Amino acid sequence: MQLELPYQLQNYIGGRFTGPMDGKYLNNINPATGEISGQIPASNENDIEVAVSAAEKAFPAWSAMPVEKRFKILNRIAELIEENLEALALAETNDNGKPLWLSRQVDIPRASSNFRFFATGIMHFAAESHSMEDKAINYTLRQPIGIVGCISPWNLPLYLFTWKIAPAIAAGNCVIAKPSEVTPVTAYLLAKICGEAGLPNGVLNIVHGDGPQCGEAIVRHKKIKAISFTGSTRAGEHIASVAAPMFKKLSLELGGKNPNIIFADCDWEKMMQTTIRSSFSNQGQICLCGSRILIESAVYEKFKKDFVERTEKLTVGDPLEETSRQGAIVSKIHFDKVLHCVNTAREEGGKILCGGHAVTLQGRCANGYFIEPTIIENLGPACKTNTEEIFGPVVTLQSFNTLEEALQLANATSYGLACTIWTQDISKANIVAAKIESGIVWINCWLHRDLRTPFGGVKNSGVGREGGWEALRFFTEAKNVCIEF
Ligand code: NAD
Repeated sequence: MQLELPYQLQNYIGGRFTGPMDGKYLNNINPATGEISGQIPASNENDIEVAVSAAEKAFPAWSAMPVEKRFKILNRIAELIEENLEALALAETNDNGKPLWLSRQVDIPRASSNFRFFATGIMHFAAESHSMEDKAINYTLRQPIGIVGCISPWNLPLYLFTWKIAPAIAAGNCVIAKPSEVTPVTAYLLAKICGEAGLPNGVLNIVHGDGPQCGEAIVRHKKIKAISFTGSTRAGEHIASVAAPMFKKLSLELGGKNPNIIFADCDWEKMMQTTIRSSFSNQGQICLCGSRILIESAVYEKFKKDFVERTEKLTVGDPLEETSRQGAIVSKIHFDKVLHCVNTAREEGGKILCGGHAVTLQGRCANGYFIEPTIIENLGPACKTNTEEIFGPVVTLQSFNTLEEALQLANATSYGLACTIWTQDISKANIVAAKIESGIVWINCWLHRDLRTPFGGVKNSGVGREGGWEALRFFTEAKNVCIEF
């Protein structure tokens, strides 16, 4: 399963590994070392065309296959991901820069859970029936859509790639999938696993390449009937503008600027430990990270002191070292962007309480892209730093006096993905939960995920929901049949 360096990845189309039709490749860089690990296909519309033909060929048999057979194949994929955990975790870390222990504990186990969850889910998926008083009954057929496109980002590569693919194929669709060009390796390895698990040729086609050429060719292809996209709001807006005139089904999971609301009466130790995680896990590159910390004024100074002290103890280091709490930022482009955002915060009058600089490590990682975890205060709710997504190890602190003020600050951005509320007063927590503009609310916890729950954002954080039945409904078309008797 391990790849020898430098590698040259290939697309997986119709069950075969094949190079890009135009013979063009992109470099893939390990962000912890700055070195080229290998090349990936720079695919375009010609490769997508071939992938669509393969999917078209596979669809009749796959969509007609009894669900128990589909279950067995998906479940086998889940098992093989577990069996190859070490190789997949290492590949994820080398591609993304996240600590290896995190890939081992979170990313790869979750990829396996995604397949297991939807393997079993499809066995229990049912549709509604509605009987009428005037001697008629309606039943709803939930049929696979056909060929669907799945496009995923770099921050949780295999975790989010499989979160889309598993429900799509479980529901009987054939898939054209594109991982992020920044983190393609685990998707390539997944193709090998799918072949070994007996997934029929053409059911899953993995095509590598960048967004504007390869991703957009998926969105533009007329035979691809639905697009499930996770990524930036900017790309999501563009994808929606291309797909909407073709009336494609769209699921868009986009950016966030999540508030973390801390009331004075919270369980302090649990809140502090979790807030360190919700601020800086995966170098702050999780769409659910709380990047705006709102603190009740009575405990603002206490929070600041405690939070800065704990953040300064987070070791930024080689992602392969067990002791590293913070790994590398995913790419040079993103590293520059995050540092630019920190400079903007300075220009806006922000006071950097800790961090704010790049970190230069010794040895293997001397040319890697590392940034200190950074805490900023003294900025109002309307500035760029507090309204635009940074997606790095950077958080701001703001204080509030009342519940209403906390809500106002929390809702003061165009995003609405997730929020966290810390208080022992459950009534207060429920009032905030009801009034906050957010698709996901955590009370006294963070990233506590149940795969059955609806997952997604409001406002500029997206359209539609993933997870549980929501995902299986998205990847099927409802057809109502009415019978009179
Ligand atoms: P991105 O939008 O740059 O890229 C995401 C994917 O879309 C990549 O595979 C990319 O190649 C592709 N893409 C880019 N332009 C495209 C186009 N015009 N047509 C088709 N495909 C295109 O995002 P990113 O930088 O990879 O990821 C970070 C972003 O993802 C952040 O904004 C983060 O908040 C968001 N995100 C959201 C969620 C969520 O569940 N809401 C989860 C993770 C990440």
